[in-house]
Amino acid sequence: MRFVTNEITCPKCGTLNPSEADFCQNCGKKFGIEYASLGQRIGACLLDLIIIVIGIFIIIWIVSYLIVSLGFYLSSSETYWVGVVIGFLVEFGYFIFLEAASKGQTLGKMALSIRVVDKDTGEGIGWGQSLIRNLLRIIDFLFAGLIGIILIASSDENQRLGDKAANTIVIKE
Ligand SMILES: [Zn+2]
Repeated sequence: MRFVTNEITCPKCGTLNPSEADFCQNCGKKFGIEYASLGQRIGACLLDLIIIVIGIFIIIWIVSYLIVSLGFYLSSSETYWVGVVIGFLVEFGYFIFLEAASKGQTLGKMALSIRVVDKDTGEGIGWGQSLIRNLLRIIDFLFAGLIGIILIASSDENQRLGDKAANTIVIKE
């Protein structure tokens, strides 16, 4: 038998709030939202990076095949730069496209049942937000991701720099 109550107990500080409250009156925690854990964020990201690396190798293989079969010749430095450009496009294109077009979910986020949403509306993010939060990955990924990990762990809303700049949060489904 479930005990029925008209009040919401804040999961963060334990304060009882009226049933219609959207925020905890004591600590300000938003009700109805569970932030993705650091472990889920890292797991999703590692999965995405594995997919991206495989994608980059496949695309480089196809492009090299096309270049050779069309009779072009590339020097080793040209080959290097073709690889760099493909790597850059796939890495950023994957995150920016999927988070904006697929309701905030990359394949890694789908696997870990988490989603990036607009902090104010709780709805899917726009192209501008996706662009900002994913370009700032450059900074969040510094020192093998340590910058992003410290920011997420020290933020009440589990936001890395890209989330703060784009006004996004990552939540559990
Ligand atoms: Zn509270």
